[in-house]
Amino acid sequence: MGGISILKEREKQIYQKGTQPFDMSCEKKSLAGSISQRACVFCGSRVVLYPIADALHLIHGPIGCASYTWDIRGALSSGPQLHRMSFSTDLQEQDIIFGGEKKLYNALVTLIDKYSPNAAFIYATCIVGIIGDDIDSVCRRVSKEKGIPVLPVHSEGFKGTKKDGYKAACDAMAKLVGTGPTEGISPLSLNIMGEFNIAGEAWTIREYYERMGLEVVSVFTGDGRVDNIKRSHGAALNVVQCSGSMMHLAETMNEKYGIPYKRVSYFGLEDMSKALYDVAEHFEGSPEVMEKAQVLVREEINAIYPTLKRYKEKLRGKKAAIYVGGAFKAFSMIKALKSLGMDVVLAGSQTGNSDDYKLLRNMCDDGTVIVDDANPLELSKYSIEKGVELFIGGVKERPIAYKLGIGFCDHNHERKLSLAGYSGMLNFAREVYSSVTSPVWQFAPARKSS
Ligand code: SF4
Repeated sequence: MGGISILKEREKQIYQKGTQPFDMSCEKKSLAGSISQRACVFCGSRVVLYPIADALHLIHGPIGCASYTWDIRGALSSGPQLHRMSFSTDLQEQDIIFGGEKKLYNALVTLIDKYSPNAAFIYATCIVGIIGDDIDSVCRRVSKEKGIPVLPVHSEGFKGTKKDGYKAACDAMAKLVGTGPTEGISPLSLNIMGEFNIAGEAWTIREYYERMGLEVVSVFTGDGRVDNIKRSHGAALNVVQCSGSMMHLAETMNEKYGIPYKRVSYFGLEDMSKALYDVAEHFEGSPEVMEKAQVLVREEINAIYPTLKRYKEKLRGKKAAIYVGGAFKAFSMIKALKSLGMDVVLAGSQTGNSDDYKLLRNMCDDGTVIVDDANPLELSKYSIEKGVELFIGGVKERPIAYKLGIGFCDHNHERKLSLAGYSGMLNFAREVYSSVTSPVWQFAPARKSS
């Protein structure tokens, strides 16, 4: 496996720190035949919109596109569960030949009558882009007839990368923002953006902000509600995690409503604390917000630090690989792994840009391999060459790690374990420890032969 050669056209998207001048290529279309780990445009828009729990999500396309259901994501709702239903127009050959607009209209009307959603999102998939169904006009017609927002999401899978799907989702949500009442919203208020309530993480973060005396108007989109999104332009600040997915909406709201935004991460002690302090600084006219933030950080860290220290003693010097969707998440993860005494020897992302990779290079030690838009063979090759003992990624990286006999930690939307905030960092350390030190790996064929 270590002898695998890299496709020539991909060489510039892979960089090993300390061995060559930094001139990394990124933000390119995936190379045909490379079997990219990237997800499609439709997947990007689904990731962002699906956690809105009181909306109908209808996929206009063949049934296969709908196979990625809620049940392999973990976005929780404290109320309605409509987002867990995966609806599809199930386009067949006849529809491809004669058009699927009629089928879409009938499906929409039937589903709205049956489930009474507060809004509906209609996702265009590859084939819809090819046959040219006019989903906008169907959405307008049904919206008028049923009296709810029916929003087309232009997420034809082939037209770009997952990032284009994020943008399509933001464009759809931007149509909802500004259509609800804002009376009674506190001047000490914010929207949480790019937090999808995987395993209840948005609830943890919301609670932190509320302990600081701040009102959370809307969460985009974890445990999301249509009415909250409609009135979210009344918030004083947008706090953006997962900037790849939500910056477009934050910028749109900044231009249209003058709402400033801050980029944060809720992963790891350092970044979690920085997020709270950065937000408190924004409300400097109310010094009690900062005072409460300081108390919160002190209490939370004191509660978990002794246990983290014990894990650190066991994990010191272990080698980790990280492969994630957006590079911003990788920064927090590198810091968190370093705080546990671990070394990151391989890091990469599906959609990072050149600024992301420059920052990644600065954070990594000499010898670390940085890879953009990787394929399974590259991830396998470098994991073996670098002696990786823990791989952190998502659903598509899990089998790679297991086949190589490497411990795996899910840091994507499929997991059922909260990793955000202080309690999340403790969960993360516990999971990393159990995975890396599990005796099962001694029986893995790849380990035995290496
Ligand atoms: S690439 Fe196209 S066909 Fe495949 S899941 Fe995405 S939208 Fe559907």
